[in-house]
Amino acid sequence: MTGKTKYIFVTGGVTSSLGKGIIAASLAKLLQGQGYRVTIQKLDPYINVDPGTLNPYEHGECYVTEDGAETDLDLGHYERFLNVPTSQANNVTTGRIYQSVIQKERRGEFLGKTVQVVPHITDEIKRRVQLLGQSGDYDIVITEIGGTVGDIESLPYIEAVRQLRWDLGEDNGIVIHLTLVPYLSAAGELKTKPTQHSVKTLMESGVQADILVCRTEHDLPKDLRRKLALFCNVKEDAVIQSIDASTIYDVPNLMLEEGLDKVVLKKLGLKSSVPDIANWNKFVHRHKNPRSEVTIGLIGKYVELQDSYKSILEAFIHAGAENEVKVVIESVHSEYLNDDNIKLKLGHLDGVLVAPGFGERGIEGKITAVKFVRENNIPFLGICLGMQMAVIEFARNVIGISNANSTEMNPETPNPVIDLMEEQKTITDKGGTMRLGSWKCQLKEDSIAGKVYKSDVISERHRHRYEFNSNFKPQMEAAGMIASGLNPDTGLVEIVEIPEHPWFVGVQYHPEYKSTVSNPHPLFVAFVKAVLSYHRKK
Ligand code: GLN
Repeated sequence: MTGKTKYIFVTGGVTSSLGKGIIAASLAKLLQGQGYRVTIQKLDPYINVDPGTLNPYEHGECYVTEDGAETDLDLGHYERFLNVPTSQANNVTTGRIYQSVIQKERRGEFLGKTVQVVPHITDEIKRRVQLLGQSGDYDIVITEIGGTVGDIESLPYIEAVRQLRWDLGEDNGIVIHLTLVPYLSAAGELKTKPTQHSVKTLMESGVQADILVCRTEHDLPKDLRRKLALFCNVKEDAVIQSIDASTIYDVPNLMLEEGLDKVVLKKLGLKSSVPDIANWNKFVHRHKNPRSEVTIGLIGKYVELQDSYKSILEAFIHAGAENEVKVVIESVHSEYLNDDNIKLKLGHLDGVLVAPGFGERGIEGKITAVKFVRENNIPFLGICLGMQMAVIEFARNVIGISNANSTEMNPETPNPVIDLMEEQKTITDKGGTMRLGSWKCQLKEDSIAGKVYKSDVISERHRHRYEFNSNFKPQMEAAGMIASGLNPDTGLVEIVEIPEHPWFVGVQYHPEYKSTVSNPHPLFVAFVKAVLSYHRKK
């Protein structure tokens, strides 16, 4: 497509957690399947500069992009659905908006002026929205506005959308409003009133929704769609139902059946055709028709909230489909693991993943879990903190350095097998100061990693402060834990393996961020394969 970039704004009403991210990603998938170059952006109305400083319990996982941005987990959905990398520009928060406006003010760029929400904050929002469009890389930019219409903190964003629709001109920017149509079982009825009110709230800010996407547990009958169209001032074909699905990977097809892509393209004045999503459908078919089942333990401390490990769970879905196996994930709280209950908690599992994390809570349980899988030849994948725990466990129980630790857990440890990186030692700020984003790694040829990745130099995304302490490398390797991946520039250890064990791999980076439907991550695919063969031999 040539010509102007088109913009689609996705707003949410009635309640949070309606799944705007999945709707945006599904729509993008359908547009991508028709040859359009699409990207998705998330605007988050909170004041943190990025979600990196947020507790996973509050906001779910923090997703990391190639360029090292710590972002909202919805960006993970965008990448997994579209297989196109996102970047810092794809996630903007109120904190970041204010930070740039205030920096400009300090530089004197507004000298003599009173700096205000309108126009200064709204101008900065508008600039950030259009940055991706101006790159020339995209025909369509979908901008998802976090929060719920009517919230105090969403107001500047909605105002920016109102202004942008004028600036961009008709046909160049449309608004999709995602709402809830609840079912009252006592009355046996679907209710449209919350949607009517939410559309009205949006209109109070001067924004008329073009398309309604209605989350519902039951099919929306025709008369109800007509009523919604009439009361909410949209066309009848622009009332789209989004019925609860058994998997998020069904949503693109559900949106296709509802014709969401068609109405969107019509409103934007663009040609529509039948999207080619054959590969996607192949994946969905494999995902839903597994030939066998395995159970993998996910050992972590944020297990109460599934969103904390979102990308890991999704990477298992991709890798499971690739192996035609259903991967059942059993979450195990590391805080409650000890020598006495470890066999009971992990003995029946086909594989174990020790999760990333920060701080001391639950780490002894993680170490106990690693010891159990190492001694019992159960396939193991350790990610980031999980890898660090594998190193500590090996140093303590194989080499006999009983006080081996990470300086994150004990700054005074005499045997810091995991230690703060040199360049981290002088940093005091917590936000955005970790080793972040994509770094290269050189693989050892005949290791598991060397065989799994079909290349000898790979690049993977990072998010950590501590590292394998290379002073201990000769000792660890002599005792049987090898470094099978190194950063070619710094020599830092990226991957450890135990060649004596059938499948024991720890990675300092986060492979889960790069797994997509079109490109299931090779390490997860190989891990699930090893888990399957362990399961068969049991
Ligand atoms: N807390 C560890 C570090 O900072 C691991 C981080 C992680 O698992 N993402 O190095």
